[in-house]
Amino acid sequence: LISLRGIAKRFGAHQALHGIDLDVEAGSVVVLIGPSGSGKSTLIRCINGLVRPDEGTLHIAGSPVDIHHERAWQQMRTEVGMVFQDYALFPHLTVLRNMTITPERRRGVPRAKAEEEARALLTRVGLAHKAQDYPSALSGGQQQRVAIVRALAMRPKAILFDEPTSALDPETIGSVLDVMKDLAREGTTMVVVTHEMGFAREVADRVVFMAEGRIVEEAPPGAFFDAPRHERTRAFLSSIR
Ligand code: ATP
Ligand code: MG
Repeated sequence: LISLRGIAKRFGAHQALHGIDLDVEAGSVVVLIGPSGSGKSTLIRCINGLVRPDEGTLHIAGSPVDIHHERAWQQMRTEVGMVFQDYALFPHLTVLRNMTITPERRRGVPRAKAEEEARALLTRVGLAHKAQDYPSALSGGQQQRVAIVRALAMRPKAILFDEPTSALDPETIGSVLDVMKDLAREGTTMVVVTHEMGFAREVADRVVFMAEGRIVEEAPPGAFFDAPRHERTRAFLSSIR
Protein backbone atom coordinates (compact mmCIF):
# COMPACT_ATOMS: atom_id res chain seq x y z
CA LEU A 1 0.00 0.00 0.00
CA ILE A 2 2.85 2.35 0.90
CA SER A 3 6.16 1.95 -0.82
CA LEU A 4 9.29 4.03 -0.22
CA ARG A 5 12.42 3.79 -2.31
CA GLY A 6 15.63 5.63 -1.62
CA ILE A 7 14.06 8.18 0.71
CA ALA A 8 16.79 10.53 1.94
CA LYS A 9 16.61 13.58 4.18
CA ARG A 10 19.32 15.96 5.34
CA PHE A 11 19.01 18.66 7.99
CA GLY A 12 21.90 21.05 7.39
CA ALA A 13 25.03 18.95 7.68
CA HIS A 14 23.20 16.04 9.29
CA GLN A 15 21.98 13.22 7.07
CA ALA A 16 18.89 12.08 9.02
CA LEU A 17 17.82 9.41 6.51
CA HIS A 18 20.03 7.51 4.10
CA GLY A 19 18.13 6.03 1.17
CA ILE A 20 15.32 4.24 3.02
CA ASP A 21 13.38 1.46 1.28
CA LEU A 22 10.22 0.40 3.05
CA ASP A 23 7.05 -1.40 2.02
CA VAL A 24 3.87 -1.42 4.05
CA GLU A 25 1.33 -3.90 2.82
CA ALA A 26 -2.38 -3.13 2.94
CA GLY A 27 -3.87 -4.25 6.24
CA SER A 28 -0.51 -4.71 7.92
CA VAL A 29 1.02 -3.17 11.02
CA VAL A 30 4.64 -2.09 10.83
CA VAL A 31 6.27 -1.11 14.12
CA LEU A 32 9.30 1.13 13.85
CA ILE A 33 11.81 1.11 16.69
CA GLY A 34 15.29 2.45 17.27
CA PRO A 35 17.37 4.71 19.46
CA SER A 36 16.64 8.40 19.92
CA GLY A 37 17.77 10.37 16.89
CA SER A 38 17.80 7.34 14.58
CA GLY A 39 15.31 8.99 12.22
CA LYS A 40 12.02 7.28 13.12
CA SER A 41 9.98 10.46 13.32
CA THR A 42 11.66 11.89 10.26
CA LEU A 43 10.82 8.74 8.31
CA ILE A 44 7.14 8.63 9.17
CA ARG A 45 6.87 12.37 8.60
CA CYS A 46 8.32 11.81 5.15
CA ILE A 47 5.36 9.54 4.41
CA ASN A 48 2.86 12.39 4.68
CA GLY A 49 5.01 15.38 3.80
CA LEU A 50 5.38 16.95 7.25
CA VAL A 51 9.03 16.50 6.38
CA ARG A 52 9.87 16.76 2.71
CA PRO A 53 12.30 14.13 1.57
CA ASP A 54 15.22 15.41 -0.51
CA GLU A 55 15.34 12.33 -2.67
CA GLY A 56 13.54 9.13 -3.34
CA THR A 57 10.16 7.93 -4.51
CA LEU A 58 6.96 7.29 -2.65
CA HIS A 59 3.95 5.35 -3.85
CA ILE A 60 0.59 5.03 -2.17
CA ALA A 61 -1.89 2.46 -3.43
CA GLY A 62 0.19 2.17 -6.57
CA SER A 63 0.16 5.89 -7.38
CA PRO A 64 3.38 7.88 -7.27
CA VAL A 65 3.52 10.95 -5.04
CA ASP A 66 5.40 13.82 -6.61
CA ILE A 67 7.61 14.71 -3.65
CA HIS A 68 8.34 18.17 -5.02
CA HIS A 69 4.74 19.33 -5.31
CA GLU A 70 2.62 20.73 -2.50
CA ARG A 71 -0.60 19.54 -4.08
CA ALA A 72 0.58 15.94 -4.03
CA TRP A 73 1.29 16.20 -0.30
CA GLN A 74 -2.10 17.79 0.36
CA GLN A 75 -3.71 14.82 -1.34
CA MET A 76 -1.46 12.47 0.60
CA ARG A 77 -2.52 14.02 3.90
CA THR A 78 -6.18 13.33 3.14
CA GLU A 79 -5.28 9.69 2.50
CA VAL A 80 -2.81 9.03 5.31
CA GLY A 81 -3.69 9.99 8.89
CA MET A 82 -1.22 10.88 11.61
CA VAL A 83 -1.36 10.59 15.39
CA PHE A 84 1.26 12.42 17.46
CA GLN A 85 2.73 11.97 20.90
CA ASP A 86 1.12 15.23 22.08
CA TYR A 87 -2.31 14.50 20.48
CA ALA A 88 -2.27 17.77 18.51
CA LEU A 89 -6.00 18.39 18.87
CA PHE A 90 -7.25 21.88 18.01
CA PRO A 91 -7.53 23.41 21.52
CA HIS A 92 -10.15 26.00 20.53
CA LEU A 93 -12.55 23.47 19.01
CA THR A 94 -14.82 20.98 20.74
CA VAL A 95 -14.08 17.30 20.47
CA LEU A 96 -16.86 16.92 17.93
CA ARG A 97 -15.65 19.85 15.83
CA ASN A 98 -12.07 18.53 15.99
CA MET A 99 -13.42 15.45 14.29
CA THR A 100 -15.67 17.02 11.67
CA ILE A 101 -13.66 20.01 10.47
CA THR A 102 -11.21 18.17 8.23
CA PRO A 103 -13.69 15.70 6.68
CA GLU A 104 -15.92 18.71 5.87
CA ARG A 105 -13.19 20.90 4.46
CA ARG A 106 -10.98 18.35 2.75
CA ARG A 107 -13.45 15.67 1.73
CA GLY A 108 -16.59 17.72 1.35
CA VAL A 109 -18.61 15.64 3.78
CA PRO A 110 -21.83 17.48 4.77
CA ARG A 111 -21.84 18.68 8.37
CA ALA A 112 -24.71 16.47 9.54
CA LYS A 113 -23.13 13.38 8.03
CA ALA A 114 -19.71 14.25 9.46
CA GLU A 115 -21.24 14.69 12.92
CA GLU A 116 -23.08 11.41 12.71
CA GLU A 117 -19.89 9.60 11.78
CA ALA A 118 -17.91 11.42 14.47
CA ARG A 119 -20.43 10.47 17.17
CA ALA A 120 -20.32 6.84 16.08
CA LEU A 121 -16.52 6.87 16.29
CA LEU A 122 -16.56 8.54 19.70
CA THR A 123 -19.01 5.92 20.94
CA ARG A 124 -16.61 3.25 19.78
CA VAL A 125 -13.86 4.57 22.02
CA GLY A 126 -16.19 5.29 24.93
CA LEU A 127 -16.13 9.07 24.57
CA ALA A 128 -19.56 9.97 23.18
CA HIS A 129 -20.26 11.93 26.36
CA LYS A 130 -17.28 14.21 25.66
CA ALA A 131 -18.42 15.38 22.21
CA GLN A 132 -19.16 18.94 23.31
CA ASP A 133 -16.15 19.34 25.61
CA TYR A 134 -12.91 21.08 24.74
CA PRO A 135 -9.73 18.99 24.60
CA SER A 136 -8.37 20.62 27.78
CA ALA A 137 -11.23 19.03 29.74
CA LEU A 138 -10.08 15.52 28.76
CA SER A 139 -7.34 13.34 30.20
CA GLY A 140 -4.31 12.56 28.07
CA GLY A 141 -5.58 9.08 27.27
CA GLN A 142 -8.98 10.47 26.28
CA GLN A 143 -7.39 13.15 24.10
CA GLN A 144 -5.27 10.54 22.37
CA ARG A 145 -8.32 8.35 21.69
CA VAL A 146 -10.00 11.39 20.16
CA ALA A 147 -6.90 12.01 18.05
CA ILE A 148 -7.05 8.43 16.78
CA VAL A 149 -10.73 8.53 15.84
CA ARG A 150 -10.21 11.99 14.36
CA ALA A 151 -7.68 10.41 12.01
CA LEU A 152 -10.13 7.58 11.28
CA ALA A 153 -12.90 10.06 10.46
CA MET A 154 -11.00 10.92 7.28
CA ARG A 155 -11.30 7.27 6.21
CA PRO A 156 -7.58 7.16 5.51
CA LYS A 157 -5.82 4.41 3.62
CA ALA A 158 -3.30 4.20 6.45
CA ILE A 159 -2.54 5.81 9.81
CA LEU A 160 0.91 6.79 11.06
CA PHE A 161 1.53 6.91 14.82
CA ASP A 162 4.53 8.68 16.34
CA GLU A 163 4.97 7.47 19.94
CA PRO A 164 1.24 7.70 20.65
CA THR A 165 1.55 6.59 24.27
CA SER A 166 4.82 8.24 25.30
CA ALA A 167 3.15 11.23 26.94
CA LEU A 168 0.59 9.15 28.86
CA ASP A 169 0.42 7.93 32.44
CA PRO A 170 1.02 4.21 32.75
CA GLU A 171 -2.63 3.59 33.70
CA THR A 172 -3.98 5.23 30.54
CA ILE A 173 -1.52 3.72 28.07
CA GLY A 174 -3.58 0.53 27.93
CA SER A 175 -6.76 2.32 26.84
CA VAL A 176 -4.96 3.80 23.85
CA LEU A 177 -3.17 0.56 22.94
CA ASP A 178 -6.53 -1.25 23.08
CA VAL A 179 -7.98 1.12 20.50
CA MET A 180 -4.92 0.57 18.29
CA LYS A 181 -5.21 -3.20 18.67
CA ASP A 182 -8.86 -3.00 17.58
CA LEU A 183 -7.87 -1.04 14.50
CA ALA A 184 -5.19 -3.57 13.69
CA ARG A 185 -7.66 -6.42 14.05
CA GLU A 186 -10.00 -4.67 11.62
CA GLY A 187 -7.23 -4.54 9.05
CA THR A 188 -6.24 -0.87 9.33
CA THR A 189 -2.85 -0.29 7.73
CA MET A 190 -0.63 1.25 10.40
CA VAL A 191 2.94 2.39 10.84
CA VAL A 192 3.70 2.81 14.53
CA VAL A 193 6.75 4.30 16.19
CA THR A 194 6.63 3.05 19.76
CA HIS A 195 8.61 1.91 22.75
CA GLU A 196 5.83 -0.51 23.70
CA MET A 197 7.53 -3.80 22.91
CA GLY A 198 4.55 -5.80 24.16
CA PHE A 199 2.40 -4.09 21.55
CA ALA A 200 5.02 -4.73 18.88
CA ARG A 201 5.20 -8.40 19.75
CA GLU A 202 1.46 -8.86 19.87
CA VAL A 203 0.25 -6.67 17.01
CA ALA A 204 3.04 -6.02 14.51
CA ASP A 205 3.27 -7.96 11.31
CA ARG A 206 6.80 -6.61 10.93
CA VAL A 207 9.20 -4.85 13.24
CA VAL A 208 11.66 -2.47 11.61
CA PHE A 209 14.76 -1.42 13.54
CA MET A 210 16.47 1.82 12.58
CA ALA A 211 19.81 3.23 13.64
CA GLU A 212 21.61 6.32 12.36
CA GLY A 213 19.16 6.97 9.57
CA ARG A 214 19.20 3.45 8.14
CA ILE A 215 17.05 0.37 8.44
CA VAL A 216 19.31 -2.16 10.13
CA GLU A 217 16.95 -5.09 10.37
CA GLU A 218 13.34 -5.99 9.82
CA ALA A 219 11.49 -9.17 10.64
CA PRO A 220 8.23 -10.54 12.01
CA PRO A 221 8.12 -9.89 15.78
CA GLY A 222 8.85 -13.48 16.85
CA ALA A 223 12.05 -13.65 14.83
CA PHE A 224 12.94 -10.05 15.56
CA PHE A 225 12.77 -10.28 19.34
CA ASP A 226 13.87 -13.87 19.83
CA ALA A 227 16.57 -14.14 17.19
CA PRO A 228 17.80 -10.71 16.08
CA ARG A 229 20.45 -11.11 13.41
CA HIS A 230 22.46 -7.93 13.88
CA GLU A 231 24.67 -7.00 16.78
CA ARG A 232 23.27 -3.45 16.67
CA THR A 233 19.75 -4.82 17.14
CA ARG A 234 20.82 -7.08 19.99
CA ALA A 235 22.52 -4.18 21.74
CA PHE A 236 19.39 -2.03 21.39
CA LEU A 237 17.06 -4.74 22.62
CA SER A 238 19.19 -5.46 25.66
CA SER A 239 19.39 -1.74 26.45
CA ILE A 240 15.59 -1.43 26.65
CA ARG A 241 14.90 -4.67 28.49
P1 ATP B 1 13.31 10.08 19.10
O1 ATP B 1 13.24 8.64 19.53
O2 ATP B 1 14.11 10.89 20.08
O3 ATP B 1 11.98 10.66 18.80
P2 ATP B 1 13.80 9.80 16.25
O4 ATP B 1 14.31 8.46 15.88
O5 ATP B 1 12.36 10.09 16.03
O6 ATP B 1 14.20 10.11 17.76
P3 ATP B 1 14.24 12.04 14.49
O7 ATP B 1 13.39 13.01 15.23
O8 ATP B 1 13.73 11.49 13.24
O9 ATP B 1 14.69 10.85 15.45
O10 ATP B 1 15.63 12.76 14.24
C1 ATP B 1 16.66 12.19 13.45
C2 ATP B 1 17.82 13.17 13.39
O11 ATP B 1 17.45 14.30 12.62
C3 ATP B 1 18.25 13.69 14.75
O12 ATP B 1 19.64 13.80 14.75
C4 ATP B 1 17.60 15.03 14.84
O13 ATP B 1 18.32 15.90 15.63
C5 ATP B 1 17.56 15.48 13.39
N1 ATP B 1 16.39 16.33 13.10
C6 ATP B 1 15.11 15.93 13.13
N2 ATP B 1 14.27 16.95 12.78
C7 ATP B 1 15.07 18.01 12.55
C8 ATP B 1 14.82 19.36 12.14
N3 ATP B 1 13.59 19.81 11.90
N4 ATP B 1 15.89 20.17 12.00
C9 ATP B 1 17.14 19.73 12.22
N5 ATP B 1 17.44 18.47 12.59
C10 ATP B 1 16.43 17.62 12.76
MG1 MG C 1 10.83 10.71 17.26
